[in-house]
Amino acid sequence: MAKKYVYFFGIGAAEGNMKMKDVLGGKGANLAEMAGLGLPVPPGFTVSTEVCAIYYRNKRRIPEEVRREIEKNLRKLERAVGQSFGDPRDPLLVSVRSGARASMPGMMDTILNLGLNDRTAAALVAKSGNDRFVFDSYRRFVQMYGDVVLGLKPVHKDDIDPFEAIIEAKKHERGIKGDIDLTAADLKDLVGRFKAAIRQKTGHEFPEDPMAQLWGAVGAVLGSWMNERAIAYRKLYDIPEAWGTAVNVQLMVFGNMGNDSGTGVAFTRDAATGENVFYGEYLMNAQGEDVVAGIRTPLPIARLKNDDAKAYARLEKIRRILEKHYQDMMDIEFTIQQGRLYMLQCRVGKRTAFAAIRIAVDMVGEKLISERDALSRIEPDQLNQLLRPIFDPAEREAAIKSGRLLAKGLNAGPGAATGRVVFNSVDAEAWAQRGEKIILARIETSPEDIKGMNAAEGILTARGGMTSHAALVARQMGRVCVVGCGELAIDYAGHTMTVKGRTLKEGDWISIDGTIGQVIEGQINTRPSEVLQVLIEKTLDQAKAPVYQTFAKVMKWADKYRTLRIRTNADQPDQARNAVAFGAEGIGLCRTEHMFFGQGKIGPMREMILADTLEQRRAALAKLLPLQRRDFAGIFEVMASRPVTIRTIDPPLHEFLPHEEKGQREIAQEMGIPYEKVRERVESLHEFNPMLGLRGCRLGIIYPEITEMQARAIFEAAAATKKKGIDVEPEVMIPLVGHVRELADQEKLVRATAETVMKEQGVRFKYLVGTMIEIPRGAVTAGEIAAVAEFFSFGTNDLTQTALGVSRDDAGRFLIPYVEKGIYAKDPFEVIDRDGVGQLMRMGVERGRRTRPALKIGICGEHGGEPSSIEFCHLIGLNYVSCSPFRVPIARLAAARAAILNAPKAAAKAMKTPEPAKKAGQVKKAGRKR
Ligand code: PEP
Ligand code: MG
Repeated sequence: MAKKYVYFFGIGAAEGNMKMKDVLGGKGANLAEMAGLGLPVPPGFTVSTEVCAIYYRNKRRIPEEVRREIEKNLRKLERAVGQSFGDPRDPLLVSVRSGARASMPGMMDTILNLGLNDRTAAALVAKSGNDRFVFDSYRRFVQMYGDVVLGLKPVHKDDIDPFEAIIEAKKHERGIKGDIDLTAADLKDLVGRFKAAIRQKTGHEFPEDPMAQLWGAVGAVLGSWMNERAIAYRKLYDIPEAWGTAVNVQLMVFGNMGNDSGTGVAFTRDAATGENVFYGEYLMNAQGEDVVAGIRTPLPIARLKNDDAKAYARLEKIRRILEKHYQDMMDIEFTIQQGRLYMLQCRVGKRTAFAAIRIAVDMVGEKLISERDALSRIEPDQLNQLLRPIFDPAEREAAIKSGRLLAKGLNAGPGAATGRVVFNSVDAEAWAQRGEKIILARIETSPEDIKGMNAAEGILTARGGMTSHAALVARQMGRVCVVGCGELAIDYAGHTMTVKGRTLKEGDWISIDGTIGQVIEGQINTRPSEVLQVLIEKTLDQAKAPVYQTFAKVMKWADKYRTLRIRTNADQPDQARNAVAFGAEGIGLCRTEHMFFGQGKIGPMREMILADTLEQRRAALAKLLPLQRRDFAGIFEVMASRPVTIRTIDPPLHEFLPHEEKGQREIAQEMGIPYEKVRERVESLHEFNPMLGLRGCRLGIIYPEITEMQARAIFEAAAATKKKGIDVEPEVMIPLVGHVRELADQEKLVRATAETVMKEQGVRFKYLVGTMIEIPRGAVTAGEIAAVAEFFSFGTNDLTQTALGVSRDDAGRFLIPYVEKGIYAKDPFEVIDRDGVGQLMRMGVERGRRTRPALKIGICGEHGGEPSSIEFCHLIGLNYVSCSPFRVPIARLAAARAAILNAPKAAAKAMKTPEPAKKAGQVKKAGRKR
């Protein structure tokens, strides 16, 4: 059988369905699904995504067999609607739209009203009796075709659209302001002027033949897959180039046929807050693009009840049908043509993190989805947005009182952002690259602006509604966004913005609140989110914090499904307290060396390093002992009976001494020793590669008295805490072990110290001695190490460094290009390199547990807070992950998703490295050791 490239859809029946997104693209698959459900979809056909690749292989030509299939389906469409293409009496008009597998809003091209020419336009005037409508449709068609197919576009970033310039000139000549004031004759004249401009500036003639128009449009839509903004978008969202776009050719329905017609876009729930209300906008007597382009400010969907009660009721019914069918919040586009409702699109709606979480939680309550579904739908990183700052209310109030409120707009993307204003996308990127926080202000945004929008803290537009391009894209990116601030007069060429008689220049500070839609002059400090106020600051009552309540439900469900335990990396009692508030179940890594930088400790630490004899060193360590003991006791108390892993000193000693002369002279003076002595000691401690030098367990082996002091401090604190009735169980962790004998050496010391302290204190407590697995030899010989170690914790920062032979400190310079070239799919210091480091981990787990089946194993490298790495830890059977306090909620959710999404069958597949993805700017600076 010949290969099928084109799929037809009509009322009540379709050749495709929603599961065929790969072939039909999202739009095509959902049109087919809606048609199959019997919803009022204008009939048409979808050219499959496969054709896109063929088109490019075929030197951007549509192959003959595809042409034939398109022609066949066009005939079928003509029969279905009883009109034909180019018919001078009753012409068929179609729209031609792109539609990739993943939604790429506005990134590719669309052409409406195709089939119009001077003859069919005349026929339509006769048929509809509405010449204004016909010539408005005609001029739009020529405008879109001229732009998309024939390439008449603005040249410079500050230029306005050449067609808009012609319209403005015409309005000026006629002394009118709005597009709506243009008469049929004006619009007919514009058609002529547009065609002339196309001829003059591009050298192409606008094609009158509808078939030629169709081939041009299909080719242009396929061609738009490779336009600059589509490529940029794909890069940003990891969409493979090979997917291609489908092309949807569909009967035109008109929302601009008079006051009984209209068009709108809507979400089945509030896409900003998640509230279960119908949320959208419409315009009567308008065509689809008017609503999203932000030219006229649309009306809230609830008002449609007044304009067309029947259509509104039908739409409400469809809203419920779609949510029940798709079990999700949907984004729909509709048109009313002379009182008849048509569905033009539906897809799963983009939403803010707030909305995603609330919708998932509400839908469980409404029995539409299960708790598992809800958890699978919330991306762990979305929780970050719940933890985002808001403006300090007092500061905001003071700013408003002093007259700094510049404008009010629509609250399109929640959160608070402050930054310096810039007026175009190119500048936005450049300023952001210089490290400036910026707010991008535009009259309205277009897909060309996505790079600038991505670079901005917040986005502000003068025009447009809640479903405008700016609003949609900002929400998807998680940017703060205020749209439709009609009072702003933005002058692109002058790089200024005037509002209420005040003029702001590029670079001036402004603050925008995307939760309530305010624009305020100047900089305003931010305050933590509701969740933080309840959990951390304890300044807000949870009963008054609906966002927190939703967050808490998600966390409760996550805890029910996850099998991984979640610990935190903390070395101060307040950090530990925050982590517990976020749900940490223990400490997975307490870096004791961080404590040495605390109050009063660095002095004795330096004395210890500068000591010449063992006695001197012991004397300095004796000063450190009570200080460390106090720190440990503080942590044990906060953590109550939760497990606490304390690591003995790790970094090379030179890190505790100043490297410049000034600092060295200062400590020489403080300690009453000659400067030369300090300098000489610093020089003697110098290492060519301190990452592989005298650090980790090697320090404790060379200077056993350091380990002894630390173990004593830990156990004395444990004894004191136990005496207070708290059941402590410290876990002493030895870093950088590669050979079992290294661990055995340190273990002996630790155990001897424990016995001594228990005897001295007259109290017994449980404790464990374990090790970090963070160099390859440790992983390979894990079986032997486990004979001594009672637990393992993967130090994946060092393990990545040593396994890849890539220095943590120097990687930033070349890892960005590495990731861009796809050599590593992701920065391996951020996301575990499953095929390399991951295999060492797996080996460590298997060999370790072969020796000691109940071996407790965790991870405490930075990967312990990263969702994909957490999934890997789940898959290889770790007991816990440990991450920084503020990532604990993310880790809880990621662990639950790992458990849910990796039912035993899926596990084998997930063990593989994720698809390589080139994501520019994704590489984080690996960071110094400390
Ligand atoms: C690690 O190496 O992963 C680790 C947690 O230790 P550090 O970052 O302190 O070297
Ligand atoms: Mg380490």
